[in-house]
Amino acid sequence: MAELLPEPYTGEPLTTHPVVVRDPSAQLKDYPGKYAAGSEDLDTAEIRVTALGTGYPARRAQGCAGFMMELGNGDVFIFDAGAGTNLAFNTLRVPYWKATKFFITHYHLDHIADLPVYYDFGQSNGRLEPMHIHGPAGEDPDLGIEALVDNIYRFARWHDRTKLGNLDSRGFDMEAHQFVPDEQKVVYSDNGVTITAFPVPHGIYGAVGYRLEYAGLSVVYAGDCEPSTITVENAQNVDLLIHEVFNPPATYVEALGWTEIQAKIVAWTKHTSPEAAAKVFSQTRPGIAMGFHAMVAPGTPQPILDGLRTGYDGPFTLAQDFTVVNVTREQIVTRMVEVVPWDFIVTDPEYVKRMGGVNTDPSLMHGLPSWLEDTVIPVAEIEEFKQQLAEMGAK
Ligand SMILES: [Zn+2]
Ligand SMILES: [Zn+2]
Repeated sequence: MAELLPEPYTGEPLTTHPVVVRDPSAQLKDYPGKYAAGSEDLDTAEIRVTALGTGYPARRAQGCAGFMMELGNGDVFIFDAGAGTNLAFNTLRVPYWKATKFFITHYHLDHIADLPVYYDFGQSNGRLEPMHIHGPAGEDPDLGIEALVDNIYRFARWHDRTKLGNLDSRGFDMEAHQFVPDEQKVVYSDNGVTITAFPVPHGIYGAVGYRLEYAGLSVVYAGDCEPSTITVENAQNVDLLIHEVFNPPATYVEALGWTEIQAKIVAWTKHTSPEAAAKVFSQTRPGIAMGFHAMVAPGTPQPILDGLRTGYDGPFTLAQDFTVVNVTREQIVTRMVEVVPWDFIVTDPEYVKRMGGVNTDPSLMHGLPSWLEDTVIPVAEIEEFKQQLAEMGAK
């Protein structure tokens, strides 16, 4: 009988192996059936990878690309920031100030559109330091992460002026960390964590994948790419390999109305078909392979698995948003997050205290021109407060 994936959106992860046991002789940690965000401490030698966004185009059920990696040493890394991924991050009860280490694979808008959103919401939700955004240089200076960060500042100019003086400017700051993506290279090394970038073929020069190494564990996030020998080389002995897998072209024709030639150009020549992903997975034999970037809807997962099984027989998960994977030396456990959509963003008063509190300087504020301010319908208590602000130098 053919191997079946569960139907999507039934609360089950779309995986062939909810648990991959690496060391049968070890005492295995027992995980609850679902991950209640913020409820589980990590072991020192443990990585928790949560899918913030897994699809394209964004739909309510799937944001665009983004993965969060939380490490046993307390570090948090965010790989790609596609539309909808910030929304997912906000439900995971991770303090905002921890979302400062971003690694971008390439600058398709479905991988970066939420960078300005992280930038915007960061300070008002307790981030009092810059976002560090790592990414490749491109064919010319306009196409790298340095230019992108400049452009986000430009994009946010009106926005920033309204916030000036009332929010703490330390949180309205980004630093670009640009590297030349012509070969495999270490782009981050700190606190026991090493991140290596490697070039991948995806449309034009300037797309990369990343390999994170920590406590003898490793995760590769290959970003968007055609199947490549470089990825195979960089994904050897990896515990979790996150690699794109597109739906078969017919799905795009049926669901999105693309022409057959469009569908094949996209799904076969810019991206990775299930049959092609099978080649990468079978040449790397990861602890578990995870496909992302496919449209997940009732009926779509099974053809992907069937395509994969033409050349790969190992453990596989098709990522949907809020798939969560715990990686340890003993086992790899794949579950879903128990999402509580109305949860507030988690705060961290201790961090704010460590940073010396939040600064407000009304003298820096830009107000309305008086002819427009004069049209505001007064409320006594608020007028009194505005008077106080004026005394503090607000214009
Ligand atoms: Zn792309
Ligand atoms: Zn993409």
